[in-house]
Amino acid sequence: MDKIGSPTLDWVQVEVTTYCNGSCIYCPHTVLRNRWVNRHMPIELFHELVPFFWHTDLVYLQGWGEPLLNNDFFEMVRICKNQGKRVGFTTNGMLLTEDTVQTLIDLELDIMGISLAGTTAGTHNRIRKGTDLNKIISHLERLCEIKAEKKSREPAVHLAYLMLKSNFHEFKDILPLAKKVGAKQVVASNLTMIVDPELFAEAIFNDTERTDYYRNTLEDIRHRAASEGIIFDYHGPGLDDTFFGCRENVHHACVISVEGEVVPCVLVNPVLCQNREINDGKPPCYTFKDQSLPITGMSFGNVRNESLTRIWNKKEYSGFRDLFDPEKTRRPEQIQSEMPQCCVKCYKKLGA
Ligand code: SF4
Ligand code: SF4
Repeated sequence: MDKIGSPTLDWVQVEVTTYCNGSCIYCPHTVLRNRWVNRHMPIELFHELVPFFWHTDLVYLQGWGEPLLNNDFFEMVRICKNQGKRVGFTTNGMLLTEDTVQTLIDLELDIMGISLAGTTAGTHNRIRKGTDLNKIISHLERLCEIKAEKKSREPAVHLAYLMLKSNFHEFKDILPLAKKVGAKQVVASNLTMIVDPELFAEAIFNDTERTDYYRNTLEDIRHRAASEGIIFDYHGPGLDDTFFGCRENVHHACVISVEGEVVPCVLVNPVLCQNREINDGKPPCYTFKDQSLPITGMSFGNVRNESLTRIWNKKEYSGFRDLFDPEKTRRPEQIQSEMPQCCVKCYKKLGA
């Protein structure tokens, strides 16, 4: 019955854990550690998701956390592959041991994203504390060898580089690194959720005097990537106050949180603002422009209680998506007044 009126989604993103072995300096997992709720998605709940995978070709096992820490991770990949789905996940790369890599290849995992924040160990390891670039590179080089031995083209390796003011100068070297580790795609992202106010100046869109430098460098990388057959994409580098979309794919994808909540993006995942009253009695906050704002969670329903089709078609959820639809003509002021504040005050709504 869930197929009747069901959406066709580009992907369904599933948060399989909120545990992490890293302590990246910008991540809510680190900055909000005193109130963070560590959870693994139980395999029983994952089984309940299977009927909803009918909506999509790609299941992406990712949220706030390191997916490989969930002991059922391989089983989750296996379940998805048995449903004929493509499967991807993003990792900090520290747990990619020989056995793990062998298993992932044997499971025919399709996509493996690797998070980076520098092309030298000194920079990457300073920002992505608890991880080690040299170790990650050696894991990926071994992955290349094993793929060659097994005559496997998958998993495709994608590099996800967080651009910061203090690591941008190294980004020009991303393509040689991508070639070294066999990556076919590089995506550059921005610091769009600033939970540590000290890092406000690290977001390159706040470094407005150098926007042209950032743009020119990114365009140069784009041209070089094209000539080397590497897909390259980036957002920003500046903000656009007239942009009325959302950089997340809210119309054709959704996120299912570790507790089964269906949300449009990870930035409003309720896990971020649980334990609101811990320690100082204040809610967790993020910085947007010159404001410190409480992080608010959002959920359109829980898959434990309702089908994904039912949740997707709810008036509240379809109305929410319409706010980001350029074809539904409305005045910007009207959109602003109807849109949740967490979206009005979100850098991804300004093109970052
Ligand atoms: S590895 Fe990912 S989830 Fe873990 S601390 Fe770093 S950014 Fe956060
Ligand atoms: S505008 Fe921001 S908070 Fe709203 S859905 Fe998009 S990414 Fe999420």
